[in-house]
Amino acid sequence: MSDKILAVNAGSSSLKFKMFLMPEEEELFSGAADRIGGPGAGEFSYKPTGGEKVKLELDMPDHSVAVDKLLEVLVSSGAIASLDEIKAVGHRVVQGGEYFKESVPATEAHIAVVEQLAPLAPLHNPANILGVRSFQKALPEASQSLIFDTVFHQTMPEINYIFPIDRKYYTENKVRRYGAHGTSHDYVSGESARLLGKDRNSSNVIVAHLGNGASITEIVDGKSVDTSMGFTPTGGLVMGTRSGDMDPTVVTYLQKVENADGDKLSDIVTKKSGLLALSGFSNDMRDVEEAANDANHEHHAESRVAWDLFVKKVANFITLYAADIIAQGKKVDAIAFTAGIGENSTTVRKAVIDRLACLGVKINNQANETRGTVDITGEGSTSKVYVIPTEEELMISRDAYKILKNS
Ligand code: AMP
Repeated sequence: MSDKILAVNAGSSSLKFKMFLMPEEEELFSGAADRIGGPGAGEFSYKPTGGEKVKLELDMPDHSVAVDKLLEVLVSSGAIASLDEIKAVGHRVVQGGEYFKESVPATEAHIAVVEQLAPLAPLHNPANILGVRSFQKALPEASQSLIFDTVFHQTMPEINYIFPIDRKYYTENKVRRYGAHGTSHDYVSGESARLLGKDRNSSNVIVAHLGNGASITEIVDGKSVDTSMGFTPTGGLVMGTRSGDMDPTVVTYLQKVENADGDKLSDIVTKKSGLLALSGFSNDMRDVEEAANDANHEHHAESRVAWDLFVKKVANFITLYAADIIAQGKKVDAIAFTAGIGENSTTVRKAVIDRLACLGVKINNQANETRGTVDITGEGSTSKVYVIPTEEELMISRDAYKILKNS
């Protein structure tokens, strides 16, 4: 029998949701609530599959108001006849530390561990728990489960997760590379294996998840062995508002220059850096790209640097991971692009692949203009090149469904 499953991604001021019919994996309903807890009305939007998108202004002092509204519109739109049709809710959790090696039921004991891990993801984990609590209250009979962004990367070998600082910071303070976007890297590498016609456990793929947050993962024999994000999702690539990797003493120096405490420094590197800082006006790649290509734009020169550095960093990480795969006597079967920039920016994809000439990777310029899941491999390329729209919510639903069936 089929079941309706909700996949939920609760942020500090937002709630994104999708409902699937499982095991058919048919998307039935999607939407989001934004500006929860903010001053004034927030925006609540939803779209039944095949129906019109509806946008509402709604006062949402906390997440539970958004959850109640979601349940109300699920019924009023006819997506469900009654609330007991929702058999399970899968919740995205950003940080599972080393504790969680798989998705788990949202028991009190597991929630307590997620709370303990909050210092490692102060913006995300508490918000994720708020989402869990709201749905527990609204749907007490449904199975609730936790699906972690970090789980997929728990297969990394120590050499790739340990930082070269006193080991006590790892053993006592849990400082190590955790990575993120795990469900996306998992999904896209699985789809790449499918397109390759290979068993995923014997396929080697480099996934470039390029969105407002961005990360690249080296996947060998189906497992994550290295990833660009670090201790937190601030490490690695240049992102919308995050700095990515830089000399760590930049931060200690800024502490003096700005007379800043930890929170302010964190704010600088997570919310005021990246494309936003480099371009001087926007964290949105569409704006940056437009300004970079418009000589008359007031931020043209800085945007050109922002765009070029973004592309260069992406190509650098791919090259590094390709070299690592080759050093293991293996072949890079595919490079796959996903997320907002990876799925939509034909120019970023082309510029990145053109920088991989030393690896013999080539792009098909015509195929690169196509949308959706597409093979953009150029003639004579040493690796396949794919664009694969990510499906993080589907991955959440798959695990929530599995947990429901095992309960
Ligand atoms: P995400 O975080 O995956 O939603 O991705 C958001 C990012 O994708 C933003 O920086 C958008 O500007 C970027 N994006 C979306 N569409 C395009 C496009 N056509 N060209 C370039 N960037 C895009």
